[in-house]
Amino acid sequence: MSAHPEPRPPSPADLRVEQALQLLQQSGHPLPPGAPGSAAWMQGLIDALCDLSSRDALTGLPNRRSFEAALGREIDRVARSGEPALLLLLDIDHFKRVNDTHGHSVGDLVIQAVADALRDSVRPMDLPARVGGEEFAIILPNCPPAFGETVAERVRHRIENKIIRFGPSQTLGVTVSIGGAYAPQWVRSTAGIWVERADLQLYRAKAEGRNRTCLEPTPVSLVSAEEKGMLFGTSNFGDFE
Ligand code: GH3
Ligand code: MG
Ligand code: MG
Repeated sequence: MSAHPEPRPPSPADLRVEQALQLLQQSGHPLPPGAPGSAAWMQGLIDALCDLSSRDALTGLPNRRSFEAALGREIDRVARSGEPALLLLLDIDHFKRVNDTHGHSVGDLVIQAVADALRDSVRPMDLPARVGGEEFAIILPNCPPAFGETVAERVRHRIENKIIRFGPSQTLGVTVSIGGAYAPQWVRSTAGIWVERADLQLYRAKAEGRNRTCLEPTPVSLVSAEEKGMLFGTSNFGDFE
C-alpha cells in the first residue's frame, strides 16, 4: 500500500472558481471551452486569466506589465543575436484639451482609435502596448536603422489622418509625438535605460513642436556609462570614453 494517497483532480468546488468566471464574464472574455472542472477546462480558465491580466481593458492592447516583460525578452534577444530592435514611445498631443472640450468618454474613444491605428500599422511580430493614460509604446524587433524613421512616420501619419467620429455626427482628429531609440546591439542593456532613451527623444519631439518623430541618431554609438559597465564589468571606462 502506498504511503501517500493519490492526488485528487481539482474540482471547481475545491478551487472557488466563481470569482474568476465572474471576472471573465464582466470583461466580455470568452469562457473556457470544455466540461467545467475537467483538466482542459481548468487550463482554459488559467489561460483566460493570464490573457486578461496582460491586456489593457480599454483598448485590448498589451498593458504595461506585459510590455515590460516583452522589453526584457527583447533585450536578451538583441544581446544574443545582435539584431537591431527599435522602441517607440508615443504620447497623444494636447490630450487634456480633448477631455476638457468633449468629455472623458470621447477621450476614451480617442484612446481606442489611436490603439486601433497602432494595431493596423505594425507587423505581426511588433508589439504595440498601452503603457499609460494616453501613452503608448511599440517594440519593433529586427528593425534595421534605415527603416526606423519610415515606420515611425507611417504610424504618426496613420494617426494624424484618422477621423474619429462621436455623438450624432461630430468628428475630431488628434496627433501624436513619437520618440524612439534602438537597443544597443551586443550589449546587455536594461529595460529602464532603453525606455529612458526613447523618452528623451519623445521629450525632444514635444519640445520641437509636437506631431513629429525624433529618433536617437545612431543605434550603436550611444552606449551609456552604465551599459559600458555591463559590457566590460567595470565602472572605470577611461580607455573607452
Ligand atoms: P502634451 O501634448 O504635452 O502631451 O499634452 P497633454 O494634454 O496630452 O498632456 P498630459 O500628459 O498632461 O495630459 C494627459 C491627460 O490624459 C491627463 C488625463 O486626464 C488624461 N487621461 C489619462 N488617462 C485617461 C483615460 O483613460 N481616459 C481619458 N479620457 N483621459 C485620460
Ligand atoms: Mg502624457
Ligand atoms: Mg499627451
